[in-house]
Amino acid sequence: MVPVPVRSPMSPSRRALVLNATFEPLGIVSSRRAVLLVLGTKAELLHTTDRVFRAERVTVPEPSVVRLVRYVHIPRQYRVAVNRRTVFARDGSRCQYCGAAAENLDHVIPRSKGGPHTWENVVAACRWCNTRKEDRLPHEAGMVLRATPVAPHHRVQLLASCGGASDDWRTYLGGGIDHFEPLTA
Ligand SMILES: [Zn+2]
Repeated sequence: MVPVPVRSPMSPSRRALVLNATFEPLGIVSSRRAVLLVLGTKAELLHTTDRVFRAERVTVPEPSVVRLVRYVHIPRQYRVAVNRRTVFARDGSRCQYCGAAAENLDHVIPRSKGGPHTWENVVAACRWCNTRKEDRLPHEAGMVLRATPVAPHHRVQLLASCGGASDDWRTYLGGGIDHFEPLTA
């Protein structure tokens, strides 16, 4: 069964927040995936948008928030992928050397010197700082990081901020969402 959206999207997100059975935020999926969870009785609908999906003979409101029927255990060590969107979200789209609007990712220890592509070694940087630093360590270029880069603690909140969270989500995401600037890109 393949659910088909009946109307074209009014919002760019078309994503749904998935909660564990305990109402703890688990992740974000496409609204189509959320429809499949609901149709498969794996999840219940908590909030919907004003759009609908049609699948065979049933019409399902497009999910905004769904809750899994059965509890899913997620290991604590689960980490968010390190990429432009997620790092920019963590760093508020600001260069971590000078505070200007960021345009690139910078490897603090350059990749050419064995620096890993991890949360602890990747920061948002403006074009100017990125160019100035070249293939050097920050101190070699006379540059100082404004903060020590760390992996984000609020995994789902960070993902939600990469594209804007709907109002329905905020109840479940708590205050954490406000720590991150939403990205529109
Ligand atoms: Zn800069």
